[in-house]
Amino acid sequence: MDVIHLLPDSVANQIAAGEVIQRPASCLKELVENAIDAGAQSIQVLLQDAGSTLLQVIDDGKGMSETDVRMAFERHATSKIREASDLFSLHTMGFRGEALASIAAVARVEVISRREEDELGTCLMIEGSRVLSQEPVAAPVGTSMKVKDLFFNVPARRRFLKKEATELRNLIADFQRIVLVYPHIQFLLVNNDEILLDLPVQSTAQRIEKLFGSSQKKSLAAQLVEVNAKTELVNISGYVGKPEAATKAPQQYMFVNGRYMKHPYFHKAVMNAYQGMLTADHNPSYFIYFDINPNDIDVNIHPTKTEIKFADEPYIWQILSAAVRQSLGKFHVVPSLDFEQPTDVEIPQIPTDLSQVRTPQVPIDKTYNPFNSHSSYRPSFPSTKGWEQLYTKELEKEQPEQVVVEQPITQPALFEDITLVKPYQHKEKYIVLSGVQGLMIIDQHRAHVSIQYHYFCDLMRAHKGVKQQLLFPEIIDLSTDEVSTLLAVQDDLRNAGFELTQISKQSFSIDAIPAELSGQSAMQSLVNILHTIMEENISTQAQRNQAIALALAEDSAIRTGKVLSEMEMKDLAQHLFALTEYTFTPDGKRILTVLENDEIEKRLK
Ligand code: ADP
Ligand code: MG
Repeated sequence: MDVIHLLPDSVANQIAAGEVIQRPASCLKELVENAIDAGAQSIQVLLQDAGSTLLQVIDDGKGMSETDVRMAFERHATSKIREASDLFSLHTMGFRGEALASIAAVARVEVISRREEDELGTCLMIEGSRVLSQEPVAAPVGTSMKVKDLFFNVPARRRFLKKEATELRNLIADFQRIVLVYPHIQFLLVNNDEILLDLPVQSTAQRIEKLFGSSQKKSLAAQLVEVNAKTELVNISGYVGKPEAATKAPQQYMFVNGRYMKHPYFHKAVMNAYQGMLTADHNPSYFIYFDINPNDIDVNIHPTKTEIKFADEPYIWQILSAAVRQSLGKFHVVPSLDFEQPTDVEIPQIPTDLSQVRTPQVPIDKTYNPFNSHSSYRPSFPSTKGWEQLYTKELEKEQPEQVVVEQPITQPALFEDITLVKPYQHKEKYIVLSGVQGLMIIDQHRAHVSIQYHYFCDLMRAHKGVKQQLLFPEIIDLSTDEVSTLLAVQDDLRNAGFELTQISKQSFSIDAIPAELSGQSAMQSLVNILHTIMEENISTQAQRNQAIALALAEDSAIRTGKVLSEMEMKDLAQHLFALTEYTFTPDGKRILTVLENDEIEKRLK
């Protein structure tokens, strides 16, 4: 007699659920990831009793058709991959098609979903894998997934749940790992009618600040420096904590292609960059995002595992460590207001017509430059063509050697704690900083233009413009010339956060604008951008991006006439000095000048 038989679906689903859905936090993760994959701009999570009674995720994503709502709960039903090879070009969080089947096997689920093109939505009730009902309902576009009484039919597992406070802590931790990757999506997290997190559309730095800033005395953002390394193999971006902000309980996060990961080996690469800068048991916070070809990582990871395997780990180790070192080094390049031992410093790329103007001088403390001890560093990153050989070569070495990722630091370095300086605002236009050798005067608007310019350049390069959807799209009528220019730069504008739809030959609707702009200025910015590109006869992609970044920077920068708090002035100065070029704006306007003591004395004789 044959003894092997197939398990009924409901039993198979329950077994799968044991793997995929271990606790409310894993259920939440799957539902929120689905909402993100559905293109939601706004996601609300409503919990009762830390998810054990109710866990509801409401999104404004693309919704599902009547058939798809039903299909979604079948095992291995997914809209995200079709064949095995798709696994190597994944751009969604989900792909296994297991989550909803698993959730429905161990809970009472109520879904309401509607697509934009459908007049009515669908409401489906499913309980322990059994469909109870399916009917049309009126509903907003998007999906609401209600998961009630998780593990109602698996008492052993239900008993396994920890105290509400513990489950809630897990939920929040998992939630944070997701929202840190999607600052351009709005999130709300509520438990038993108490709002735990209310996150607007914001930048990554703002989101970090919002999540972790309040527990710190100082603004967290002020304690972080930006990390950026772009190579053909991998792009690394994010923030790392300044050494003196290290704590016993640091926030440490790494993500690859939008997924949270734990990577002890890369963790060491980061720690390596801090060598000699930390005191015992104090560690830095970091938020590091890897962007890599999905081909070069093992995506077929278990849904609840956070370890991810990379193809070129030793090589990435070096890029990462060098990038962090470089950022920490840059941070030390803050021009000192202690002009005690003046030495001439090269400031890169000063426009020629302004070259006579003296630049501030800073004393040099070579010991602060982490690269100084390595005389053999390469001036730029080696071409990644033929990196395979490099990889094997590097493998032979015991200790990874230093690699400089972008430009080497040519500037001497000195760290002066700008937070100790008391800034003063003059005529609601200038920030005045007093130093031993004189007064530094900074134009607040121009300083902010430069900062914003680099911010927009980065966003556009990463295709990560932060959008704000307009409730009432603006209609803009353009000339034929303007239309053809707009069509040529449409992709670049999208990268910056604009969403435009052509509605007739010469008119467009502006559906979304960069989050940093106000609705009014966005129209004007758009027209300015088009005119700059037309007038300056800009043709290359790089020039186009620069023109767009500059126009957006001009329009989003703080204005002359804006009163700044001491905190804001310090923050501005600090961000300014983190730029490689802080003396002139990208379009060659002077940002700061120093009135030296000698000069002051001469005039007052
Ligand atoms: P996976 O995410 O791995 O594809 P799931 O079981 O999580 O598998 O979801 C199955 C399918 O249901 C998805 O591929 C998607 O097409 C659809 N789906 C799930 N949640 C949503 C949602 N919030 N909005 C739109 N479609 C969804
Ligand atoms: Mg999924």
